[in-house]
Amino acid sequence: MFRSIGGRIKKVKNSWSGNILSVFKNNYINEEFWDDLEEILISGDVSIELVDELLDILKDHVRKKGIKNSSVLLEDFSEILEEKLSAVKGMGEEPLLQGSPSVIILVGVNGSGKTTSAAKLAQRYKEEGKDVYFAAADTYRAAAIDQLQIWGKRAGIRVIAQKHGSDPAAVVFDAINAAKAAGADLVIVDTAGRLHSRHNLMEELSKIHRISIKEAGTDSVEVFLVLDAVMGQNGFRQAEAFNQILDLSGLILAKYDSTAKGGIILTIADKLKLPIRYLGLGEDVQDLTNFDPASFIKELLSKDQDSA
Ligand code: GDP
Repeated sequence: MFRSIGGRIKKVKNSWSGNILSVFKNNYINEEFWDDLEEILISGDVSIELVDELLDILKDHVRKKGIKNSSVLLEDFSEILEEKLSAVKGMGEEPLLQGSPSVIILVGVNGSGKTTSAAKLAQRYKEEGKDVYFAAADTYRAAAIDQLQIWGKRAGIRVIAQKHGSDPAAVVFDAINAAKAAGADLVIVDTAGRLHSRHNLMEELSKIHRISIKEAGTDSVEVFLVLDAVMGQNGFRQAEAFNQILDLSGLILAKYDSTAKGGIILTIADKLKLPIRYLGLGEDVQDLTNFDPASFIKELLSKDQDSA
């Protein structure tokens, strides 16, 4: 079973979103209120353009509704954030996985959480009764193949791998065809996060994507970028770079349990218009949750029982 977000994002609540709540707490709406809110949003990695837009919308609400006290405005703010996230096509939706097999390719820089997310997804789909295969397509690092083998053994997932240094697209070809032959449902592809150069990496990932489409069919292939939520603005730049080259179908935002900022989620939605499919909330295979904008914003902007 997937864990729910409830109580799992304490770090961000104890700092960034906690600070947002303090500004909204029973303050008279004046210049100081707007300055404080602006500063906190920017400090949490919300882009300046989006902060400006959010403040403009809020100021409009204040004018039209004659709101004087910030505590009244919090509900409007929550709704605006939820609308922003929900406006992105596919936000929070899970892949349909109607292929036989379907393929999920996980891309992202080293350390972002790809292999762990692969294990979490495999666990989830296995629990749903799906027959899942791993393709160990990070052949650049021997340790990456070993790591996936360990997860596979633990979860009872078959790992298709070749020697360190072999062609990753060939591994993916083998994995998809092994899954086809076995009538399996899903192949999860773990890829390299770093090669000799970024150009090589993008070439390699594009090739993996092409082979997957050729072997499994266009509609059966999803490319998810795994981003480390702690990376903040750097994470955004990474997302931009991957998105320019690859046809990304969504994001997994890993380590949301470890970030004290967290506004990057809004910046990504606003600027890249990429749907967030899942949130990573810890190191365990169960620590992944579906991303639902409404429950996310509710959790982000609610006071914790114990600190109330
Ligand atoms: P990869 O290089 O992209 O495959 O990254 P890994 O999956 O090996 O993860 C790198 C580190 O981040 C490991 O120590 C993981 O346990 C940790 N990690 C991955 N996802 C999460 C998460 O959602 N929350 C936390 N706290 N740690 C995570």
